[in-house]
Amino acid sequence: MGRPATATINLDALRHNYRIAQQLSARSTGNGQVMAVVKADAYSHGATACAIALADMASGFAVACIEEALELRAAGIKQPILLLEGFFEPSELAMIGQYRLDTVIHHQYQIDALVAHPLDHPVRLWLKMDSGMGRVGFTPDEYRRAWGQLNGLSFVKDIVLMSHFACADESDNDHAQQQLTMFNTCTHGLPGERSFCNSAGLVALKEARGEWNRPGLLLYGVSPFPKAHGIEQNLKPVMELSSAIISIKEIPAGSPVGYGSQWITQRPTRIGVVAIGYADGYPRHAANGTPVFINGCRVPLVGRVSMDMLTVDLTDLPDVQIGDRAILWGEELPINEVAQGAGTIPYQLLCNLNRVPVQYHGLPVPDRLDFDEVGI
Ligand SMILES: *Cc1c(COP(=O)(O)O)cnc(C)c1O
Repeated sequence: MGRPATATINLDALRHNYRIAQQLSARSTGNGQVMAVVKADAYSHGATACAIALADMASGFAVACIEEALELRAAGIKQPILLLEGFFEPSELAMIGQYRLDTVIHHQYQIDALVAHPLDHPVRLWLKMDSGMGRVGFTPDEYRRAWGQLNGLSFVKDIVLMSHFACADESDNDHAQQQLTMFNTCTHGLPGERSFCNSAGLVALKEARGEWNRPGLLLYGVSPFPKAHGIEQNLKPVMELSSAIISIKEIPAGSPVGYGSQWITQRPTRIGVVAIGYADGYPRHAANGTPVFINGCRVPLVGRVSMDMLTVDLTDLPDVQIGDRAILWGEELPINEVAQGAGTIPYQLLCNLNRVPVQYHGLPVPDRLDFDEVGI
């Protein structure tokens, strides 16, 4: 119907990948559980649909802010939902209690707010240590004092000990090891469950797996490693971004193609135009040669990506016709390859998705689950 650009979401693949994450987590000493990270609208896969598709299996969900959490509660999600950056203002605290949300505590102002505005309901807090990421979290020196303060609050039910890796996706994991050592040393003897791993940590740093692991990218079937990695064989990409060829024409050698005339044909060339562009989230900086998958073959992107269209060289695929599908990423074409062609990471490509209608395949997806009241 209308413009052919579409993002197709395979919810069975999402469930498959969640099971892979569960298997990896179960191999930790803590017999870990998987908190499915569905922030940023589940990396553009649709947070509500993804959470509902995982509702009978997921141990919990993690989001970036209370707005995202309330969307999941409104859809009937009953599992724990974690606010990964915690709350931004004390005014959120009443809702954190009312909707039974878990929250990260990464800074003293959040502890002060909890002291000043005690919650009516018991709450689980995730106390974050900055073990070497240099972003949010208590320094190793401050950590125990913060833990003690929280532990003294009557409404604090549990404190999960938490940190986040800076370089878990690198093959040389020295920095990650140092972070882990720092975390283990500073939390030694503290009671409570532990959570350190994002996708890359969960796969690559077995000793860092804890009672709670927090994969995001992996669930969407994308390898968290920029270099080739065995995990790719086990994952199923959840999103396929595709559109159709809307024009084909033959142009002579020496003709410029696209804005800025950045690419000039070296030979008589069959140029195909695909109805997708940077307004849809396809990266404008994708280099000439970035692959596009058409009729079972890879063809090179040529010329600059426009707002609504891009051009490919079809010279070696004489059978391709107007109307044929072009896959920008998906099962046949890992998004990591496109990210490399564009000098970015798959996270950004997914999050930038825009304007494209999303279609769900796999399980039937209700708009919301039946629920009477929020209770965990
Ligand atoms: C986004 C996020 C994750 C998930 O990261 P992936 O690399 O997508 O697995 C885990 N933990 C925290 C704190 C995050 O912000």
